[in-house]
Amino acid sequence: HSNLLTNTAKSHIKVYVRTRPLLEKEILEGAEDILKIIPTENKILVEEGSKGCFTFDGVCDENESQEEVFDKVVYPLLKNLDSIKNVNIIAYGQTGSGKTYTIGTNPFYSQVFWFPKCEEIFGCSNPVSKDKFADLYFFLNFSIDHSFDIVCHCLSTFSLFQKEENGGMLQRVMSSLLQKQVSENTPERYLKMTFLEIYNENIYDLFASRKILETKADGFGGLIPLNCKDEIILTSEEGLTLLEKGNNVRSAASTAMNPHSSRSHAVISVTLFEKLANGVSVPKGCLRMVDLAGAEGVGRNNTEGKNFSEGVSINKGLLAVGKVLAALSNNSASLHIPYRESIVTRLLKDALSGTDCSTAMIVCVSPASTNLSVTLSTLRYAEQAR
Ligand code: ADP
Ligand code: MG
Repeated sequence: HSNLLTNTAKSHIKVYVRTRPLLEKEILEGAEDILKIIPTENKILVEEGSKGCFTFDGVCDENESQEEVFDKVVYPLLKNLDSIKNVNIIAYGQTGSGKTYTIGTNPFYSQVFWFPKCEEIFGCSNPVSKDKFADLYFFLNFSIDHSFDIVCHCLSTFSLFQKEENGGMLQRVMSSLLQKQVSENTPERYLKMTFLEIYNENIYDLFASRKILETKADGFGGLIPLNCKDEIILTSEEGLTLLEKGNNVRSAASTAMNPHSSRSHAVISVTLFEKLANGVSVPKGCLRMVDLAGAEGVGRNNTEGKNFSEGVSINKGLLAVGKVLAALSNNSASLHIPYRESIVTRLLKDALSGTDCSTAMIVCVSPASTNLSVTLSTLRYAEQAR
């Protein structure tokens, strides 16, 4: 039966946890770092409240660079792209935990705002992104009484983000896949990129003015979006520009009241093509990067039920992903895997089950004591995926 699956596929999912440094905002709120990483044992300890110790396939501490995370998590999968055909990297975690930073979904934090207070304080206006805007706004409101040093530090953190060494996994994947053709006598390579958003159980095409895509069942419980627009990429710079374009479309749909980018899932796929001497292009494998919606509601909605129509349908995807992962990690041989419960689980069916592909999940957590309960529920959720 289509949604019966043996648990043999489960081992294809590798689960990593990544924590980040405390944000300036968290420090100012009086938060302390309550996480401890034990790299040699792939463990993460929560050193407050009910405490906890969680084991994953790998752990990345707050000092690990984007490059190190790429080498540890992504590169081993990328190496097999020829034989495996499909590689998936899925970021899971609370809003503000580092999913977008890690994946590099929004490399430029592209929507630029002119921040009036900058001009007031510094005599110049600094362009800051929309996502950063809330942070900066909070910070500056707060910091009028704080020292000039702290404000400068904060601003330098903002511009730091744009540096290439902080580029996320997508940027590294693109340059790694496109790099080889220069050095060797290999066929010409190019990539095709698609950028989808899942919001309220609809699939939107961010490369086609956020058009809602029709879908077709694949006959095995999965879902295929129809006529989604792809863009050809010859350099990683082109890829970043396209991401920026997609992000502009995505944030234009957002309102101040409803920052929906934290409530929707972003799915970016990059397919590698090689051009043979006779001019024919052959697909060599596909890499899919998923920046899931913020996980903060998951634990709560689980028990409190369905009162907020939007919250429920946003979290529906995350809840369904959790159920699928739990069912897959259950050791009984033929059991029901509830892929059909949401669009995101249907779209990611192969990724989650590990059928014909390799999948890594990067679970992002904030180290702040103020996020203790969400961090614990995130780690519990993620541990069941192993
Ligand atoms: P999410 O997408 O999970 O909501 P973001 O990726 O937007 O979270 O990260 C929230 C903030 O934390 C951003 O300002 C980002 O630059 C910062 N951040 C995230 N991860 C790291 C990291 N590993 N090192 C430094 N800063 C980080
Ligand atoms: Mg994000």
